[in-house]
Amino acid sequence: MSSSSPIRLAIHGGAGDLDAVNSDTRAHRAALHAIAGEGLALLRSGAGSLDAVELMVQRLEECPLFNAGVGAVLNRDGQVELDAAIMDGRDRACGAVTGVQRAKYPVRLARAVMERSPHVMFMGAGADALNRELGLEEVAPEYFITEERFHQLKEARAKGVIVLDHDSAFGTVGAVARDAQGHLAAATSTGGLTNKHPGRVGDTPIIGAGTFADDQTAAVSCTGTGECFIRAGFGFAVDARLRYTPADLATACAEQLDAVRGYGGRGGCIAIDRHGLLALPFNSRAMYRAWVDADGVIGVAVGED
Ligand code: ASP
Repeated sequence: MSSSSPIRLAIHGGAGDLDAVNSDTRAHRAALHAIAGEGLALLRSGAGSLDAVELMVQRLEECPLFNAGVGAVLNRDGQVELDAAIMDGRDRACGAVTGVQRAKYPVRLARAVMERSPHVMFMGAGADALNRELGLEEVAPEYFITEERFHQLKEARAKGVIVLDHDSAFGTVGAVARDAQGHLAAATSTGGLTNKHPGRVGDTPIIGAGTFADDQTAAVSCTGTGECFIRAGFGFAVDARLRYTPADLATACAEQLDAVRGYGGRGGCIAIDRHGLLALPFNSRAMYRAWVDADGVIGVAVGED
């Protein structure tokens, strides 16, 4: 995919081994289409890419179909532990939170960490306390829990496994965007893995792994086996390939997905480079995704379609 149009965006709702042909994905597709449309309208109104990725991830956190915010997966103790990150490609400013249980919108808290604290990353109770101190919306932890996630946890417990979300239901959410000024931004949000050990942290809130943006190179948001994306240093490695080798965005992302596979992981990413080129590769059977093409038309796909 390529574009001379400066405004571009992509969002994802997780990657996994869903049979996209035989599954009913209409609700997910409709949600992705609507949320991409909101992001596009915001960018067209002159907003920056940071505002667009924050809004789109916030909408995905509100949507119970995805593993972020409402509808997030549950840990071994039946609790949510939410991770999120956001990054501004203009100056690599970034914010991340991990293990939050009360911040209604983890991505908004991540942005507040970036803009309203001198730090980059907050964890657990301290992150939730910061959310309150900064006057952001707070909810009881039960707010995030849906019936479906409760059943998934029961199944995982019965089998005695830790389930990568993309092996059961989808999925971590993320957004990347390029605004009319050519600035890039990325944001990602997740509940992590079903039946995970309390305290486990994946790639989503790790800047340079699951979330990355730099105007000189690209914005990237990942989904999949978090441990392997961390080992691959996914976002930083895509940046390095674009910066120091002749690789284009598609090649850089494909090579890093090969590295993830080499570590035994699966998943995908959405990425946008400084020219507005998009790459949305995955090495699982499917990845929920939506994007805006060169003509400003919204596309939605789940499998190879
Ligand atoms: N990457 C996420 C994590 O490891 C999970 C996912 O993308 O579904 O926490």
